[in-house]
Amino acid sequence: MKASPVFVRLFLLLVLLAIVFSFAVQLRLVKLPPEYDPFMPPDLRAAPSFMRNLQMKILDQNPQACVTALHQAKVTASLLPNSGRGPACYLDNTVMLNRVSVAQFRPEQTRCNVAARLYLWERHVVQPLARKYFGMNVKEITHFGSYNCRTIRGSDNMSEHATANAFDISGFRLANGRMVSVLKRFKTGGTDGRFLRSVRDGLCDYFNLTLSPDYNADHADHFHVDMGWVRGCH
Ligand SMILES: [Zn+2]
Repeated sequence: MKASPVFVRLFLLLVLLAIVFSFAVQLRLVKLPPEYDPFMPPDLRAAPSFMRNLQMKILDQNPQACVTALHQAKVTASLLPNSGRGPACYLDNTVMLNRVSVAQFRPEQTRCNVAARLYLWERHVVQPLARKYFGMNVKEITHFGSYNCRTIRGSDNMSEHATANAFDISGFRLANGRMVSVLKRFKTGGTDGRFLRSVRDGLCDYFNLTLSPDYNADHADHFHVDMGWVRGCH
């Protein structure tokens, strides 16, 4: 069936208007409220929305906007100098992350967009789930770090850890001091197991790739997340 020429013209006109409007917003000729402007740094404290997800995609390419977003969320972070440690291992656009909205972190250098996505996950997934399952917040998220100049285990390809574009989460210390570790509690039933599976599922909403103990034995003791080109939730 042939499309009517009137509809084709109308469609092309709408596409043209959308492109012109997008440029006008980008050039600040048209001002939208920050929460509806895809080119503004996202409010990491606000509830998830379609526009915030779009802002996060733009933030992935813009480290300065990323730092601004972290500052607006009251996270002290500044961009660290880029440093190369060989062609395959380098630290670009990184910050030192030592806390998110509530939980403490052992300080770790990681890419700014990885830090911002960890903030979103902790605030909008981990803490609400901890209150639901345990009636209290998580006071510390334990981890195995971000940067590590190495290949993927069993492969010649470099790991996303070689560019600090990944993070390994190992457990959650609750406000009462009790530890819920991925290694000891993920495969168990009950509240701890359900909590860990739910926070793993939440990681998948914020990172390109999430690997948990469900994936293989190499991940028996942590959740691996990264912002590489491979996508998956296991
Ligand atoms: Zn990892």
